[in-house]
Amino acid sequence: MSQVDPHHHHLNSSPFFASTIQQIEDTGKLVNINSSILEILKQPRRIITVSFPVKMDNGESLVFTGYRVQHNQCLGPFKGGLRFHPSVYMGEVAALATLMTMKNSLLNLPLGGAKGGVAVDPNLLTESEKEKLTRRFTREMAPFIGHDKDIPAPDVGTDSQTMAWMMDTYSLDYGFSQTGVVTGKPVEVGGSKGRDAATGLGVVFIMDKVLEATGRSINSASVAIQGFGKVGMHAALEAYKLGAKVIAVSDVSGAIFNGDGLNIPEVIAYNKVNKSLKSYPEAEAINNEELLSLDVDLLAPCALEGVINMDNVNDIKAKVIVEGANGPVTHDADLVLHERGVIIVPDILANGGGVVVSYFEWVQDIVWLFWAEDEVRTKLKAIMDQCFDKVWETSQKNNQSLRTSAMANALLRLEKAMTLRGQAS
Ligand code: NAD
Repeated sequence: MSQVDPHHHHLNSSPFFASTIQQIEDTGKLVNINSSILEILKQPRRIITVSFPVKMDNGESLVFTGYRVQHNQCLGPFKGGLRFHPSVYMGEVAALATLMTMKNSLLNLPLGGAKGGVAVDPNLLTESEKEKLTRRFTREMAPFIGHDKDIPAPDVGTDSQTMAWMMDTYSLDYGFSQTGVVTGKPVEVGGSKGRDAATGLGVVFIMDKVLEATGRSINSASVAIQGFGKVGMHAALEAYKLGAKVIAVSDVSGAIFNGDGLNIPEVIAYNKVNKSLKSYPEAEAINNEELLSLDVDLLAPCALEGVINMDNVNDIKAKVIVEGANGPVTHDADLVLHERGVIIVPDILANGGGVVVSYFEWVQDIVWLFWAEDEVRTKLKAIMDQCFDKVWETSQKNNQSLRTSAMANALLRLEKAMTLRGQAS
């Protein structure tokens, strides 16, 4: 039992946080995780909230709110992305931090779980406003981050440029470059080859594995992908390269559909020029809801959380769902789909490629020895394939969903480490 619980009320009013904890609790009880350990995992270790002013280009000062939630560091330094999005709030960041602990444990990485966010629409900022906001947020967070403490990375609305600014700002206090403080940096300033594509590539390694395990093949499988950002775009491209028929992709402006399969390199070129998929000529325009309900072999939601929920679960026709985004299927919808025999590869497994290559980047920064892209890809594939096999085997053996199996594997590793550290009752 927890005695002091200051954040509980606040965090639990977030459905995303509440359902993440529910998942930990249900799976923990199923595999008999020590109750004290479950209690520890149900609350973040540390929550940092900051409000800070940024002077806009017009001279006006605006105040922004940002968070860093450090969930658990039993396995190693805290690690997790930084999100810039208007709907960022503490409960969401806490849920994502919790999922990072589980993801890093499942992937066997020597890292704990964290997440950060600033409530802001980066599309409404100029480049110099974005830079000022990033540098100020980094200063506010400086006491709490570092290569051996907590290592942020890109997430929704942030990118390699954001990480370069963070690294540069953080380094000022030292007088020497601190490249290991963030990952997902440009290769010129200590980034890893292959990091940009890593999450999407990992999603596709998993697509390949799950289709093979269910008696199909990625070659000529029909695929729909929601989101065309860092995860969705690379997933679409890598799937296309392996011969999948990617019939629909989308971004915040809507979706595009072509039943014969989209030419993804052309879509990427179009998106680069137009900054949107809107009005792409070789496809029909549909909306994001229509994309989610397409009758495809495989659906990969790679945008935001909660997009498959009780309102649209009965429209979902895909046979397999691979969660490129974090938390795209709500807890209730997940149970309905599982009941219907839809196979769902959960986020903590499916999108783990990003943090795996972030881990590689962190290691390369520490030893100053940089790897070729082929080496990164080969090592990433080995980890993703092995992790999928482990989760698949557990699910077959115990007749349970891949989500439960993934969470069970993550919890069991944490339980061992936390027990060794004296945290079990
Ligand atoms: P991103 O900002 O690069 O891209 C997000 C994409 O989603 C954009 O194409 C955007 O237009 C689209 N989008 C936004 N709102 C939408 C809406 N309402 N409907 C449809 N599309 C919408 O972000 P990202 O890094 O690709 O992250 C996407 C998801 O993957 C998030 O859940 C993130 O936490 C998760 N994830 C990212 C990484 C990573 O390495 N970047 C790693 C693991 C998981």
